[in-house]
Parts: sequence; C-alpha cells; structure tokens
Amino acid sequence: MIREAEAERFSIEAWQPRTKIGIDVKGGKIVSIEQIFASGKPIKEVEIVDALLPNLENKMLEVASVQRMTKNNRRQKYRATVVVGDRHGHVGIGTSKDVEVRPAIDAAIRDAKLKIISVPLGCGSWECNCGTNHSLPLRVTGKCGTSEVVLKPAPRGVGIVANAVVKAVVELAGVSDVWSFSRGRTRDIYNTAIAAYEALRSITELKNIESLNAGSAGSAIAEEQAQKQ
Ligand SMILES: [Zn+2]
Repeated sequence: MIREAEAERFSIEAWQPRTKIGIDVKGGKIVSIEQIFASGKPIKEVEIVDALLPNLENKMLEVASVQRMTKNNRRQKYRATVVVGDRHGHVGIGTSKDVEVRPAIDAAIRDAKLKIISVPLGCGSWECNCGTNHSLPLRVTGKCGTSEVVLKPAPRGVGIVANAVVKAVVELAGVSDVWSFSRGRTRDIYNTAIAAYEALRSITELKNIESLNAGSAGSAIAEEQAQKQ
C-alpha cells in the first residue's frame, strides 16, 4: 500500500529563486540545510530543499477520498499524505487535497519538503551503547489528535519494530533500529504519521536540554526518566 510516488524533476539551472534564502542557495552562499535551520528562518521555496537535499525519497502513505457537501451537490476530493526523507536524518510529512489524485500527491510532496526537519540520530540503547547513528539518542513521544507514538532506541540488528506508517516515517528519517508503540486511533494514517514526525522533531529540543546539562548528570537523568515512562 505504501509506495513511492513519482516526484517532479528539479533543475537548479531553471530555478529562479523568489526568496533571499533561495538566492543564497542558488548562489552557493548557503550549502547545507542545517545552516537554514540554525538561522531559524522558514523555508518558503520547495526548490531550496530540492537543491540542498537532492537524494530525497518519498512514500505515499495514503490517498483518502473525502467528500465535501456544497449547497447543491457533493464534491469528491482526495487527500494525499506523503512522507519524504533522505535516510540520513531529514524527514518531512505533507498533506494536500485536490479534486484529482495526481495533483493532490504532487502538492503533498511539496508540502512535505517544506516541512522537512533535521533528526539527530544516535544510539540511546543501553543494551547496545555502540555510539553510532543507527537508532535514536533517546526515547521520545509524539501526539496528533488522539494518536500517540512512542519511539524507543533499540540495539543494532533489531530493525524497525513499528506499524507500516511509523515504519515508513522513521525509515526515511534514517533510523535502522527502533521499538515503537502506538496508542489511540492507529488506523488514522495522517495523525499517526504526524505523531511519529512530532516524536522525531522533539529530539532536537531534548538534545538541546541535554547539551545544556552536559558535564552534569543531565543525560543520565534523561535516560532514567525514559526508563520510567
Ligand atoms: Zn548502538
């Protein structure tokens, strides 16, 4: 069911940037997406992501038909939900509606690219403790609507233990080993995908707290709390 959607081709030569960041990317002043994240400025052009992360893959999570009632008739629309990622610490989820399937998917891919985040990978598994980036640095939880997704670092070789939607999200983020638990309406694909994305997004904030505490017992406390949950 989850398969790759054909993405539009990107040509940096043909691209005419419309924002300052876009101009700096095309001009070679900005060479990594992390520079933009560090500046805190929003990315408003999909081409910026295409230029800086040329190896993005996408997976279509869902195309749902949604009906909209108007005064005189019902109108059928399609809602596409897509995940994009480079399997090296960058992932985004996008969604879009259209009266036709193909434009809904294309717009969802663009939306996912604009929502791309950086995911600090690591090995937070005390059983493994290998120090490489095959899992997550710590246990995290994300919520969307009634859906909740917990991601827990797993030792090397465990693989991705998760439902198909969470698996697609963490896999494209670059996670090889993780345990996942889902609560709430796991049949709601969009909410489940966003909950997984929010869990991954929370790592950056938690990592910042951890590095503030570096040298103290900060990370030990974080790990202890994670075990208690
Ligand atoms: Zn490890």
